[in-house]
Amino acid sequence: MRIRREDVEYVRERSRIEEIVAEHVSLRSAGVGSMKGLCPFHDEKSPSFHVRPQVGMWHCFGCGEGGDVISFVQKVDHLGFAEAVERLAARLGHEVHYEDDDGRATTGRREGMGQRQRLVEAHRVAVQFYVEHLAGSADALAGRTFLTERGFEREAAEHFGIGFAPRSGEALLRHLRGRGFTEDELVASGLAGRGQRGLYDRFRGRLLWPIRDVAGEVVGFGARRLFDDDRIEAKYLNTPETAIYKKSQVLYGVDLAKKAIARDRQVVVVEGYTDVMACHLAGVATAVATCGTAFGADHIRIVRRLLGDDRSVGQGGQIGGQVVFTFDGDAAGQKAALRAFEDDQRFVAQTYIAVAAEGMDPCELRQAHGDEAVRELIARREPLFEFAIRSSLTQFDLDSAEGRVAALRHAAPLVARIRDTALRPEYARRLAGWLGMEVEPVVAAVRRAGRSTAEPGPMRRRDDSAPAAGPSGLSGLALMRAPDPRDPVARVERAALQCMLQLPHQVPVEEADSLGENAFEVPAHRAVHNAVRAVGGLRAAAALSRQAWVDAVHEQAPEVVRPLVTQLAVEPVPATTEEALSRYASDIVLRVAEVDVSRAVGTLHSRVQRLQPTDPGYAESFAELLAAESRRRALRERISGSS
Ligand SMILES: [Zn+2]
Repeated sequence: MRIRREDVEYVRERSRIEEIVAEHVSLRSAGVGSMKGLCPFHDEKSPSFHVRPQVGMWHCFGCGEGGDVISFVQKVDHLGFAEAVERLAARLGHEVHYEDDDGRATTGRREGMGQRQRLVEAHRVAVQFYVEHLAGSADALAGRTFLTERGFEREAAEHFGIGFAPRSGEALLRHLRGRGFTEDELVASGLAGRGQRGLYDRFRGRLLWPIRDVAGEVVGFGARRLFDDDRIEAKYLNTPETAIYKKSQVLYGVDLAKKAIARDRQVVVVEGYTDVMACHLAGVATAVATCGTAFGADHIRIVRRLLGDDRSVGQGGQIGGQVVFTFDGDAAGQKAALRAFEDDQRFVAQTYIAVAAEGMDPCELRQAHGDEAVRELIARREPLFEFAIRSSLTQFDLDSAEGRVAALRHAAPLVARIRDTALRPEYARRLAGWLGMEVEPVVAAVRRAGRSTAEPGPMRRRDDSAPAAGPSGLSGLALMRAPDPRDPVARVERAALQCMLQLPHQVPVEEADSLGENAFEVPAHRAVHNAVRAVGGLRAAAALSRQAWVDAVHEQAPEVVRPLVTQLAVEPVPATTEEALSRYASDIVLRVAEVDVSRAVGTLHSRVQRLQPTDPGYAESFAELLAAESRRRALRERISGSS
């Protein structure tokens, strides 16, 4: 048995593919007759998923998937062909007809009609059933009271489809059986549980929020405890994992919020169903909540697709838009914010925190101070890092020098753990402002903290662990610390030392020897460089064989860094031809010099900014700054391939 070909064609022609796709992906124009967005079938940061409404086709240039509107629905909702056609037909209000393999019309339902469709259908019936009970049954008074006490009128309850599950334990079961649902379907839907004495209603005597998928179909429920004699203690009970309900992938309110999320390029993540309601009623239409689980990777993926991409995409191809998390207290918010330092921080530049005063959630806030207070809460959001760092400073007395120093000691490691190297110096400067301290010592403290917190772990490559693999018992020494392998400065320094040791005759001698004793930032690198200087610098190397040169440096180096000297002297240098080696060696040393000069430029720049033109020393500092800047320009011009 199959769907009549005419019906399939009708559905394919009449369904507007851009509308169907837009329920899952934010689309924007990509030229005449074409739209694009982030592909729902693979993880990507810039859009390669294209839709051509006029021809009714879609294609992803990232993963190669493509097809028509039916195949899109099949794939995105994990449906079979017939189910997808049925679903699209239902949207169009079109009845599909079935025929047998010989093309003879058949009556009645297709056997084995898609399970998903049946489970969704069961939920549709259940929502109606529960809604009627909230309005009409005497038992539901507790539920109605719960809502009124939280400032939700009848219209609000209806808008969100809130219902009440009768206390009897079999009411829904009887209702669904009467509609032709089988026992297996009821259990598979999660609406019923199977006990020793047969089936029973999963939700009994509870207030119910229907949880919808992005397309607006109810796939599960969240249930609030109302009665003291409820045998299930949990305040909230959710639908268990089913074929259509995956808690890591559902967001309460997403069906109502998706348009506003795409339009405002913002999503507000609140903690509960009543918070979503309060936000939407207050005009924050971008609010969603997770359902009985933390906001995780799957949620991020869904939200990113809804936010779409941004033409003003920054470096690293990060998508635009903001994700605002609300918390009902500093402690909760801080704990969550601090956790972000542990994560991969990919999403962090767009993450904001909003904490209501007096430890209130959006629902309580709306009751106490009205809709405007909810809007204000979201408007007052702070960038995640700012919130985390600032709130950690509140425990210190910043009016005393001791308090400021203690606060700096506490906060510097936090700033150092910001992975985005463009963001880190910015936060070091802001931290100085929050503490009321000079910029330089704060920047220095952050840098030190960065070196000492370079975490061991999978990110640390073997070759960077060399100093730590030295003699034991000295691990506290700064010299023993392995630099963070992700730190570009540490990488350049390491490469420069490799060149100085292995290619002493190719590095630009003058530049190499003009590097001061502080030119290398990583303590272990600095120690090796000082050994190079102690031997007489690259000038001295000219008269020595490579072997003798390395031996001399090795001998001058402190005991703990000698293993590092050996390692640097044997590690492969990434160039194959003699000419390429010379260019590489030259570039890498010039880059260390450039970093060194940039450091001086930064220091001089902030000094000049703080001084008034009339202050003593202004003119000298200004002249020094110009000289340093021109030296930096000259170095940059000499580095090949740089612009
Ligand atoms: Zn794709």
